[in-house]
Amino acid sequence: MAQTFTITDFFQRFPTDDSCLEHLMHIRYGERMACPKCGKESKFARIKKLPAYSCPHCGHHIHPMAGTPFERSRTPLQKWFYAMYLFTTTRNGVSAKELQRQLGVTYKCAWRIGHEIRKYTAHVDGDTPLGGGRVVEADEAFVGGHVPGGRGGKGKTVVFGMVEREGDVIARVVPGRGEFVLVPHILENVKRGSKIATDEHKSYSNLSEEGYRHGTVNHAQKEYVRGPVHTNTIEGFWSWMKRQIEGTHVWVSRKHMPKYLGEMEFRFNLRKSPELMFPKLLLAFQKPYDSKN
Ligand SMILES: [Zn+2]
Repeated sequence: MAQTFTITDFFQRFPTDDSCLEHLMHIRYGERMACPKCGKESKFARIKKLPAYSCPHCGHHIHPMAGTPFERSRTPLQKWFYAMYLFTTTRNGVSAKELQRQLGVTYKCAWRIGHEIRKYTAHVDGDTPLGGGRVVEADEAFVGGHVPGGRGGKGKTVVFGMVEREGDVIARVVPGRGEFVLVPHILENVKRGSKIATDEHKSYSNLSEEGYRHGTVNHAQKEYVRGPVHTNTIEGFWSWMKRQIEGTHVWVSRKHMPKYLGEMEFRFNLRKSPELMFPKLLLAFQKPYDSKN
C-alpha cells in the first residue's frame, strides 16, 4: 500500500527554510564531502545569515541552491518546497491563483513559481525512448483550453503525443500535422521495430518503410479498435490533459504549452505511484539543471 506524504508530514519534515536548505545540501553533496578547494573531506558547517555552508579547513563556501530554480528567488525556500508539494499532491494541477492564495505571495510571483516548477518536472521526468515491446500509440491533438471569444481550433496549439501502453508518454508542441513534422518525433522517441498504432491520417502512411510495425484504425469510417490496434491510451491522455487545462488553467498559450506538457508527462508517467512524485522532485537536484529560458 502506497504511503501518502500528508500535509502534516510535510511540515514536520520541512518546518523551516533552514531545514529545506539542509535537505538540498544533503541531496547534492552528502553528509560529508571532499572540499573542491582544499581537497580535505569533512562535514561542512552552516554559515549563519547566509544560505551556504563552509569548509572547516579552508573556509570555502558551498551554496546548495546554486543552479536550482530557487537560486535567484526572493521567495523563501520553504514556500518553494510547499509549492512543489502542492504540485505533486493535487489531481488536476495548481493554478497561479491557487498558489498565490496558499503561499501568500503576489500573483506575479506565484505565476513564476508555477512555471519554474513545471520546467523542473519536465527535467526530472526525462525522455527514455518508448517501445521495443508493448504497442506505442501516436496521435495529434489541439489543446489550449477555451479562448475567450474563440471558436473551434482558434487559439489552440497542435501537440503530438506518443504513449507506450502501460508505460510513459512523450508529448511535444508541433508547428503542424504534416509527415515531415510528426515522423521525426517518432524516429527520435520510439525504438525502430516497435509496434505503432495510429489513425488513418496520411502523415503516418510511411511508418512501415521507416522500420516500424504499423497498424491503423480508420476513425473516418467509425473504426476505433481492430484487435490490438487502437489509440485509446493516447486519446485518454488528451482528454485528461484537456480537463486539467480547462478546469485549472482555463487557457494556456502556445508559448507556454511546452512547460505544461512537461508537467503532464511527469504526472502521467508516475500515475501508478503518485506518492513518489514529491520525493522524486526533491531528489533530483543533483542533476545539472539550467533554470534559464
Ligand atoms: Zn576546504
